[in-house]
Amino acid sequence: MTPRRRILPVFVPNLGCPHRCVFCDQRSISGRPEPARPEDVVRAVEEGRLAGPAGESFTLAFYGGSFTAIPRGEQEALLRAAQPYLASGVLKDVRLSTRPDCLDREELAFLKSFGVTTVELGVQSMDREVLRLSGRGHTPEDAVKAAGLVKEAGLCLILQMMTGLPGDTPEKSLATARELIRLSPDGVRVYPTVVIRDTPLFTLWKAGLYKAHTLEEAVPLCAALCEEFDRAGIPVIRLGLNPTPRLSAGLAAAGAYHPALGELVLARRYLERERALLSPEDRGRDVVFAVRPGRVSAAVGQRRENAKTLTEEFGLRRVRFVERDLPDLTVTRIIA
Ligand code: SF4
Repeated sequence: MTPRRRILPVFVPNLGCPHRCVFCDQRSISGRPEPARPEDVVRAVEEGRLAGPAGESFTLAFYGGSFTAIPRGEQEALLRAAQPYLASGVLKDVRLSTRPDCLDREELAFLKSFGVTTVELGVQSMDREVLRLSGRGHTPEDAVKAAGLVKEAGLCLILQMMTGLPGDTPEKSLATARELIRLSPDGVRVYPTVVIRDTPLFTLWKAGLYKAHTLEEAVPLCAALCEEFDRAGIPVIRLGLNPTPRLSAGLAAAGAYHPALGELVLARRYLERERALLSPEDRGRDVVFAVRPGRVSAAVGQRRENAKTLTEEFGLRRVRFVERDLPDLTVTRIIA
């Protein structure tokens, strides 16, 4: 198996952003008050080289802002700093994130000429009202147009969506996922909304004008979204904010923040599969489920949550899990 190439992130927190989205404060999330300069690109690559085995190659990623809305000279200075490393093969590619309303053919041609291979678009929702209430300042049509332009340019397209935004509902999130699927991205990131301290969303939440998205809501919803993306063959490359000590220490004031959100969602997907294999006739029985090696902990759930839920729901005597040579996310029942 080819190891995944290590990503060297360079943060450009809120740089270029023409609007401040209500939920966002990239400066506090990244812990970097100042945006990156060309020397930070060099430092990120050199530190990556020192930390890894000789000959390792990397992906450079500009995250946390609206890269394509940064003044062109500053974009160019950052991208130029990466060129010697691209030429020597230390960097294999460059990726960046931006907004759907800050992209056109000319910009994409410029990015390609500097070795950018992947553009991540923060779509967040395809619901007009959710976008408006979240202060996004762009429309669903902007997302459709930008995604088309990225694909037309032959670049890899990653789309980001959020759940639990102001005015959002699980139905709207599922509809957003289906619309993203129609745009044929190469991957998606799903971020349940977290109330970051001192953002406009924090103020709304404190005033009782926004109800925080809970983990209890986000986990089953993200599980359902993953099923949609899986069926379409689109990888979910990230679920939830990258955990950091700052977020865990209270910067995440409310909302669906959990350092192991991906594991919770995976356990939930297993729970649904296990549930589908049980019926009222199982009351009082011992039940044994088989899953792929390495997936027993996901199948049992954090703190045996899945096992407890099924035992109570179906009145089981006992539920056990064993490993068998099965595909991922497949559960079969073994006669006890
Ligand atoms: S969500 Fe994206 S576009 Fe909005 S303020 Fe944050 S970095 Fe800028």
